[in-house]
Amino acid sequence: MQYEQRIPRQTSADLFEEAKGYFPGGVNSPVRAFRSVSGPPLFIREGKGSRMWDEDGNEFIDFCCSWGPLIHGHAHPYIQEKVMETVARGTSFGTPNRLGNQLGKLILDNHPYLERLRFVSSGTEAVMSALRLARGVTGKNKILKFDGCYHGHVDSLLVKAGSGLATFGTSSSAGVPENVAKDTLIIPLNDRDLLEATLAQHAHEIACIIVEPIPANNGLLIQDRSWLECLRIKAWKHNVLLIFDEVISGFRVGFTGAAGYYDVQPDIITFGKVIGGGFPVGAYGASKAIMDHIAPEGPVYQAGTLSANPVAMAAGLAALELCLTPGFYELQAEKTHAMATAIEAYARQRGYPLHVPHIGSIFWLAFGTERITRSDQIDAANMQYFKTIHHELLQTGIYLGPSGYEVGFVSAAHTVADLQEAVGKICAAMDVAFW
Ligand SMILES: *Cc1c(COP(=O)(O)O)cnc(C)c1O
Repeated sequence: MQYEQRIPRQTSADLFEEAKGYFPGGVNSPVRAFRSVSGPPLFIREGKGSRMWDEDGNEFIDFCCSWGPLIHGHAHPYIQEKVMETVARGTSFGTPNRLGNQLGKLILDNHPYLERLRFVSSGTEAVMSALRLARGVTGKNKILKFDGCYHGHVDSLLVKAGSGLATFGTSSSAGVPENVAKDTLIIPLNDRDLLEATLAQHAHEIACIIVEPIPANNGLLIQDRSWLECLRIKAWKHNVLLIFDEVISGFRVGFTGAAGYYDVQPDIITFGKVIGGGFPVGAYGASKAIMDHIAPEGPVYQAGTLSANPVAMAAGLAALELCLTPGFYELQAEKTHAMATAIEAYARQRGYPLHVPHIGSIFWLAFGTERITRSDQIDAANMQYFKTIHHELLQTGIYLGPSGYEVGFVSAAHTVADLQEAVGKICAAMDVAFW
């Protein structure tokens, strides 16, 4: 398939060439390099609401939303105002500050699955700290994770399953020592028998089970509530902690995230993305009893120079205040459902092998017609269709994350008209991809 550029991309292409002289692959995070789609990555200059503009002046309706943080769209006036107000008084003091209290209070008052929090600066850092906490609390070292869940670039979670059933991980990145990887066990999602067998054999050395309750980093692998409940019960039974990695789902499918959506109480929850209102913020939280293991209260060390800095706290506070507007999550979910079902209806009518799993304001273009709940059900060969769809959509002013394994996000700034426009263009792109 030839990918003809019908929009100007020269400025982005030039900037990308320049960037290659500064950064490995020209980027500061790998997926940004557009390796699995066509053309150079777009250099984005500005955004407003649901739209953003690249350095060549092309306008896009953005469904990447900075990979999830921008639940209110770009440059939301209220968030901007709070950030500007805060920046004017200085950006960081390395001391406690009132805005941190305010964000902590807002979260804890409205999130019954948590009693204490600690702010950090990224989702990865939240997960890394949560693992240390789980190990510190239990005095055990191994971790149980699920194939198809992503938890940031933490050494012990950059692992893939080896051969065999319940397998000890082998590292999926150079630089991760095998003796770190081997402390992680990996099994498929939604295999209850294997979960029980693995815990029966290894629970005495497993500190925690970590799961994305709404797996959204390798497609959108929506799980059944009963599976999450099963994790909860097995974790209790075997005396291991249950970590919900809610870096994407937290404050996204509802203020209480997946814990509230499914009403399943994990032991530790990790956050990132939406919590920072577009700034680098992560957090982890748990009961008071568990969090009291963290320094200076307890023996588990964890610290951060810029943790809970006032600017990031102001942005997070403004963003989460907006999320608490009555009806906020229902509206985003309704809009997303309408868009997803319209795309699916068109695909079904034309006989195209595509469906659109969605939950809250998260959606995924999934190839095939069967529900996908495990990563081994994703057929990599279908990603050629995504490449074509992605290219066509860029030509017509719709921006999706540059990989078919990535989900899309609808923000509060996406109007019904935006979504209707997007549906029309996505359907037209499917016509090109599937004909
Ligand atoms: C994005 C993400 C992370 C990593 O967060 P960063 O801020 O990119 O470090 C971890 N876990 C999940 C579930 C994520 O979606």
